[in-house]
Amino acid sequence: MFKEIIIKDYVIEEFKSYADKNPIEVCGFVTGKCFADSPVNVAYGNELMMVDNISTKAKEVDYVMQPQQMMNVMRETSFIDKKSKVDLIACIHSHPNGLPIPSSIDINRAEYDWVYLIYAPKIDDVKAYTYDHQNKEFYEITMHVQK
Ligand SMILES: [Zn+2]
Repeated sequence: MFKEIIIKDYVIEEFKSYADKNPIEVCGFVTGKCFADSPVNVAYGNELMMVDNISTKAKEVDYVMQPQQMMNVMRETSFIDKKSKVDLIACIHSHPNGLPIPSSIDINRAEYDWVYLIYAPKIDDVKAYTYDHQNKEFYEITMHVQK
């Protein structure tokens, strides 16, 4: 599990520009390079890949990633292609009307070890979490935004 994520400022700005003009939850992935097995446990995010939200419930409080687009991102990364030099770092989504805290839906749906980033436009804040399978819990981690 990661202790820290270092993310390029343009990734965050780009995501905010999608989320700020959308009344629904928007979602995507951040790719880059991770050092999960090293003592530093740090992830570097440098590219944003947006995925459509195809939730059939209330999209203001729920997101479901379009499966084909999701697969396309995963295929480009070491998550699926072990030879790829690009790692899948984080899943990112917005809470248009809420706080940047994992919802019960997020907790029920979390599956993977990557970082979860949640952006709340109302308070202009992004928080980073890792997910612990065993305890079914999110833990906030430090996020540094870098130029
Ligand atoms: Zn959420």
